[in-house]
Amino acid sequence: MKAINIPLLVEQYPLLEPLIALKPVCWFNPDVTSLKTGLPYVGLTAEDIRDASERLKRFAPYLMKAFPDTAAAGGMIESDVVDIPDMQQQLAQLHGMPLTGRLMLKKDSHLPVSGSIKARGGIYEVLTHAEKLAIDAGLLKTTDDYSKLLNEDFKAFFSRFSIAVGSTGNLGMSIGIMSARLGFSVSVHMSADARTWKKNRLREHGVQVIEYEKDYGMAVAQGREAAEADPDCFFIDDENSRTLFLGYAVAGERLKQQFDAKGIVVDAQNPLFVYLPCGVGGGPGGVAFGLKMAFGDHVHCLFAEPTHSPCMLLGVHTGLHDQISVQDIGIDNLTAADGLAVGRPSGFVGRAMERLIDGYFTLSDPQMYQYLRLLNQTEQIQLEPSALAGMPGPSLVCADTAYQQRMQLSASAMQHGVHLVWATGGGMVPEAEMQSYLNDDLCS
Ligand SMILES: *Cc1c(COP(=O)(O)O)cnc(C)c1O
Repeated sequence: MKAINIPLLVEQYPLLEPLIALKPVCWFNPDVTSLKTGLPYVGLTAEDIRDASERLKRFAPYLMKAFPDTAAAGGMIESDVVDIPDMQQQLAQLHGMPLTGRLMLKKDSHLPVSGSIKARGGIYEVLTHAEKLAIDAGLLKTTDDYSKLLNEDFKAFFSRFSIAVGSTGNLGMSIGIMSARLGFSVSVHMSADARTWKKNRLREHGVQVIEYEKDYGMAVAQGREAAEADPDCFFIDDENSRTLFLGYAVAGERLKQQFDAKGIVVDAQNPLFVYLPCGVGGGPGGVAFGLKMAFGDHVHCLFAEPTHSPCMLLGVHTGLHDQISVQDIGIDNLTAADGLAVGRPSGFVGRAMERLIDGYFTLSDPQMYQYLRLLNQTEQIQLEPSALAGMPGPSLVCADTAYQQRMQLSASAMQHGVHLVWATGGGMVPEAEMQSYLNDDLCS
């Protein structure tokens, strides 16, 4: 990697000054473009999402039985979307400005199996790998009832293979639980910021947890290295995986169905703004891709990051993508938002999606805790800190008339739009841990 001249970079990109000073910033990308223009750069198509969606349908009979909490939804791993009107009032008061439109929350925090957005991508990639192994071995056909995968002979078959992943916590939870259930031998390489309860939970499921004292980048590198030494080990590459990305992307058509059922229309007069917490980028990138394919140019996606880990904003804003890390500009990548504690963005997501993401903003850890408590008070919904990252977004969009004008968002459209904050985790946080989030006066 080339050495980066930081003073020169800051001169070229003045936004880096407040970013380095750890101040909350917001940047609307002036180069954002239409889906038609931006799509070729993604390198994936509607057909790829359809294929992912079909695969998940094939696995539904299996998932229903393997994870009974998915049975009510017919083996579909999906979350509710709900109105949060009391939170909307409190946000308007807190930010001292009206928050027009309708504020909603997408509760991926409460997805079955692992209680975070990683139950989309992580589980999908494990299923894809398992299906391929079983089909190649002549044990499975796509027309079969996949609940046969619960049989002991399949478990014995999968136990000959292993799966490895590097994670800040939630990806490890999804991949660990899913892989172990199928019968794989699975190891999760956990970064220093991963919560103890997540490691313990995984060990209870028979997952091998390897702990590191360094951050996510190191955990991934070590996992990759360990996997390369073993031909029967499959490494799930959170930084580059198209498969993970497509697992997330299925969320787009699912949300469209949920909106249809609620009679919510998305068009020029009724725009949709979606606020997605961003770590390495696969989750928000994949979801944003799915949303664009489902709603077209009338959905506007923004990524949210901690002030201490603004890797995607840094990578896209400077055009350096994975060639620069937050540590390169003196930012420490230390945040209570463990799901977002990533110093270097995905090498593929920023380049693939930058033309389709309207903007990026950062918020401080104390802000996340403040929103966490406010959401609990107003709506009785409990989330982990990462999952609150999107909360300042609606006010930032409502306040920026230059952005609205550039995107041809009329005053009437701003009145009728929907602001959807994507809540990405927290459903499985142990009670005592949640109480410490809710009570921690140090963080207010
Ligand atoms: C992983 C994660 C994200 C972000 O997903 P990336 O793919 O890392 O960008 C957001 N919130 C939570 C709770 C997560 O675990």
